Amino acid sequence: MKLSVLIPFYNEEQQIPITLQAVLPILEQTGMKFELILIDDGSRDQTWPIIVEAGQEDSRIIGLHFSRNFGKEAAICAGLDQATGDAVILMDGDLQHPPEHIPEMIRLWQEGYDIVEGVKLTRGKESLASRINARIFYGLFRRFSGYDLRNASDFKLLDRRVVEQWRKLGEHDTFFRGLSAWLGYKRATFSFEVAARQAGGSKWSVFRLAKLSINAITGFSAVPLQFITFLGMILLLFFLILGVQTLVTWFSGGAASGFTTVIMLELLIGGSIMLSLGLIGIYINRIFTEVKSRPRYIIADSTNINRQPDKSEA
Ligand code: UDP
Ligand code: MG
Repeated sequence: MKLSVLIPFYNEEQQIPITLQAVLPILEQTGMKFELILIDDGSRDQTWPIIVEAGQEDSRIIGLHFSRNFGKEAAICAGLDQATGDAVILMDGDLQHPPEHIPEMIRLWQEGYDIVEGVKLTRGKESLASRINARIFYGLFRRFSGYDLRNASDFKLLDRRVVEQWRKLGEHDTFFRGLSAWLGYKRATFSFEVAARQAGGSKWSVFRLAKLSINAITGFSAVPLQFITFLGMILLLFFLILGVQTLVTWFSGGAASGFTTVIMLELLIGGSIMLSLGLIGIYINRIFTEVKSRPRYIIADSTNINRQPDKSEA
């Protein structure tokens, strides 16, 4: 039985040694054979040299270096493509996913669960903006896609057969948390307290988070598109009511009132149309990126990879 542990790093030169020091002993204590796959998501600091050095000292450490910053989702994909273990554990590189839970995850996996998911007890220290953003996002996501991802995290263990199904997913723009829910399988959860970050800051700006949210929702649901029809119907209803009212006023001898109404309607309709076009644009953009079918990531360098990930080790 072999364990693969995947950790993405982006500009984490200060954090990596701390993380390795915390994770390696725990992995050793499990008594399982393991590989530690460190994915450098195109860092511009000393992250990659540090990974290379760690790999020279310990051959169980595998390093992948992206040609540029492709994002954490891409890093997860690369790790899952590379992993050869019977179980694969994913965790953040900043120890906000406490590695002390790894033995518990393995135990649940050995009990027969295919996916073991970490559920956040609290969300840890966060800015108000990111808290609000998360609230809105999870609410919308649940309503549109039917998957409740509140307090879900990327701290997960996947059985090998889940990973193999994951590899068959064709989309370029992945959303790991959503897709792993979509895959199904026998699932267990455990709760963890989000630890405070020790070095550096969160790598997400509010703008990036908003982009991620839009991506995730439009990737899982076409309901927003149906809103446009709905909006159209409401506007039409208003038009009918207003029309009847105008006719009534006219027949009772009054004049149809107001230039203001016209302007207001003009604004309302114009605004809705542009909003709707924008929404359609988002979906077309998704189709556009998928149709181009560029690779999800590009690996520029690697260390300690001396075998084909898919074929060896049955
Ligand atoms: N990360 C990454 N690529 C990115 C941004 C982040 O690989 O473009 C990594 C980062 O190094 C960390 C993990 O993803 O190991 C989680 O990132 P972060 O702590 O910034 O996110 P948060 O905890 O705020 O959600
Ligand atoms: Mg973090």
